[in-house]
Amino acid sequence: MIQPPPLRNDCFAMPQGVDWMPVDTALARLREALHTITPVETVPTLQAAGRVLAVGAMAQRANPPMPNAAVDGYGFAGPASEGPNVMHLVAGRAAAGQPFEGTVPAGQAVRILTGAILPPGVDTVVLEEDCAIEAGQIAFNGPLRKGANARKDGEDVPAGEQALPAGHRLRAPDIALLCALGVAEVQVHRPLRVGVLSTGDEIIGAPSQPALPHQIWDANRPMLLELVRSMRCIPVDLGHARDERTAIAAALDAGAREADVILTSGGASAGDEDHVSALLRDAGALSAWRIAIKPGRPLAMAMWQGVPVFGLPGNPVAALVCALVFARPAFSLMAGAGWRTPQGFTVPAAFEKNKKPGRREFLRARLRADGSAEVFPSEGSGRISGLAWAEGLVELPDEAVQIRPGTPVRYIPYAAFDLV
Ligand code: AMP
Ligand code: MG
Repeated sequence: MIQPPPLRNDCFAMPQGVDWMPVDTALARLREALHTITPVETVPTLQAAGRVLAVGAMAQRANPPMPNAAVDGYGFAGPASEGPNVMHLVAGRAAAGQPFEGTVPAGQAVRILTGAILPPGVDTVVLEEDCAIEAGQIAFNGPLRKGANARKDGEDVPAGEQALPAGHRLRAPDIALLCALGVAEVQVHRPLRVGVLSTGDEIIGAPSQPALPHQIWDANRPMLLELVRSMRCIPVDLGHARDERTAIAAALDAGAREADVILTSGGASAGDEDHVSALLRDAGALSAWRIAIKPGRPLAMAMWQGVPVFGLPGNPVAALVCALVFARPAFSLMAGAGWRTPQGFTVPAAFEKNKKPGRREFLRARLRADGSAEVFPSEGSGRISGLAWAEGLVELPDEAVQIRPGTPVRYIPYAAFDLV
């Protein structure tokens, strides 16, 4: 089976002299730099939910395979004329899974139940509620067009037609469709393995461990691992590394072995304690993307032993926003599902804000009962409680805007970012 090529080592290189990059430019560059990297495998349809099709799925059989009754009633050869119709009922019946043996003569009718294939001589069904039955006859008022209350074979999907395209992620309804069409197995991508690493001397593993006053529990790693899981990627826990090159390098080495892409948080800026960017820079692989986004500082984009590294800011609010805005569509692309822009919608603001020009802003937000968007009262990027309070983000444009109650704003629910 043909497999996708690896990424180039210089895929994140930036042209010299680029200053603050608008969000859309950063997204366009990522989209250009990346491509599908996950290998293809064949999987039984019943185990393929959440997987991304590598090849379009073709209908092995039509749905429905045969013309059949859409209602319970009586089948005959239509049409039926205007006014009273009286027909002799043949003996026997047609039910789902129990076809009528024989042909229904013209002018006669047969008892037929929903899902039963239409016997020869039947193309039309009259609803049982519309019939009187007596002494082996039915009577009903016409007119009834030919084909009424019957489903044609292949009216849903004809045999041989592509049911779902390559790049489509299989959800419950898709599995239903594939089963209906007799698709027993599908060619899908192996899920993207995403390594998640936290860095920082102040960070300690889990809230079950005691913390000294200068220590804080790792909030990013569990959050990002869960995000990765809900994106249908395979989370690979790379643990936590202290602010030391050797520790970070060892963790990145492990990530390059076990994962297809690495997500780090912390140490991504250019300061003294920003060991992730220092290490990657010395390895010659760093491209610090200074993106005009709030919250968020530079995103450290790098290749480590052939594996892309997304260096997120340490601040949990910025880490989540940057993961949703940049890593999510990139991972989708690498996983074979194509670049995906989250589906937001325009709602009236329930807040006021004078936004300055220059940076795109993402505010922690949720919808009120009246459909307007309210935002978390504090924009402080250390306010993790606002992330938990929110049910989505309001995206404000790069330019200056004056927002008053009622001003239309773009609201993107968490669910549109796969955050569930
Ligand atoms: P840094 O980007 O390393 O300068 O970190 C920025 C801020 O985020 C600092 O206040 C860090 O303590 C905090 N921080 C970094 N990593 C984490 C983490 N994994 N969980 C919670 N807070 C973090
Ligand atoms: Mg740090």
